Amino acid sequence: MPREVVSVHLGQAGCQIGTSCWELYCLEHEIDPDGMMPSDETIGSENDAFNTFFSETSAGQHVPRAVFFDLEPSVIDDIKEGKYKKLFHPDYMLTGKEDGANNYARGHYTVGKEMIDGCLDKLRKIVENCSSVQGFMAFNSLGGGTGSGFGSLLHERLSDLFAKKCKFDFCVYPAPQVSTAVVEPYNAVLSTHAMMNHNDVTFIVDNEAIYDICKKRLNIERPSYVNLNRLVAQIISSLTASLRFEGQLNVDLNEFQTNLVPYPRIHFPLCSYSPVIPSSKVSHEAMTVSQLTNSVFESSNVMVKVDPRNGKYMACTMLYRGDVIPKDTTKAIETIKNNNTVSFVDWSPTGFKVGVNKQPPTVVPGGDLGKVSRALCMLAATTSVGEAWSGINSKFDLMFAKRAFVHWYVGEGMEEAEFTEARDDLAALEVDYQEAGTDTQDLEEDEEI
Ligand code: GDP
Repeated sequence: MPREVVSVHLGQAGCQIGTSCWELYCLEHEIDPDGMMPSDETIGSENDAFNTFFSETSAGQHVPRAVFFDLEPSVIDDIKEGKYKKLFHPDYMLTGKEDGANNYARGHYTVGKEMIDGCLDKLRKIVENCSSVQGFMAFNSLGGGTGSGFGSLLHERLSDLFAKKCKFDFCVYPAPQVSTAVVEPYNAVLSTHAMMNHNDVTFIVDNEAIYDICKKRLNIERPSYVNLNRLVAQIISSLTASLRFEGQLNVDLNEFQTNLVPYPRIHFPLCSYSPVIPSSKVSHEAMTVSQLTNSVFESSNVMVKVDPRNGKYMACTMLYRGDVIPKDTTKAIETIKNNNTVSFVDWSPTGFKVGVNKQPPTVVPGGDLGKVSRALCMLAATTSVGEAWSGINSKFDLMFAKRAFVHWYVGEGMEEAEFTEARDDLAALEVDYQEAGTDTQDLEEDEEI
């Protein structure tokens, strides 16, 4: 029986990234935009690996196990009118009438609070129709009002209702090039604090990093959200491939967590992906497994603007897909370890978990990404993620020193003290990351003194 995964797409970024993900999942499983799948020989039985993500009607339609939610209607209306309008169940596409106005407090305390029960009811219904849900995957921005405020409220409630299930979050980290509001650092700090104890693993993708990869690698002069989202979808697809396709060396949701979260708060792995090749330049010579393995450690392939060389790795999950022989992965990883090119903390010197899925990457026909026969997505617990938090914290501090824009939050019933509390928590997170990187030897020496 499939162990189902329920997706929750929140706010503009969450819903638009969701559209790109489901577009790619459909292409990978040969599901038509109307949900029909001519190659499915066991219609209605829900016994296939892809049924973790798709339910089936007796009429043969494949329906995403997903809820889309936005406080305002325009983004979801576009999806309802778009190419995949027949794929999604309209009852699970929920919208409000008033938007989050880029304000965490509106999404969390006022406008969002009124809609939370409706959203949870839909999620409960999906879960009731599953045989054994393994967890939830939420998608949202950290900068927007719905994504940050409603997203964190939903996580709080989900962790009450489904305490035992895995809860993963894919968060878009704000970046100046594509940012839509000056208050995004506030929203990011407030929501990260609010979600801290309710999420098992949070994958952050930084719009600046993805923007740069689209620009430099795919030669797109001014990347659009569709460009960014299709790249993000490739990473999410690699991450979920083992849940959607059969395979011996697959990695389960629980295993991600066990391998990537050394301490409960250190749950923000860094994602990197390779190769990113434009469709116009697909080389006939595919990258070797060894080249792929080396490339995911390069900062230019990392989805957050940090330099991994400035930190130490605690654990790496290597998700290979396509034409990859497990023996080659072992050799490539051995070489990395022996050459000492990558620095690991001394308490976890060989922290590699490997997954190989035979399904090669698929690309959207006519899109910018070129088709390749093999790819690698690395998820890494590394202390360099601390840099991302320092960046957002200092942007927060600049505004908060002048109490700028704070009245918008207080006006929605939020206490100013929540700002200070959230900021202190993120300062502690920076320290947690630093301490995680301290070698055991150094700790012992400190104790002796
Ligand atoms: P919300 O609807 O109130 O949650 O607000 P948004 O999701 O629009 O949040 C704003 C942040 O999300 C900004 O940092 C935007 O750059 C980013 N964003 C909005 N839409 C997208 C998208 O489709 N893809 C990506 N990658 N980022 C987005």
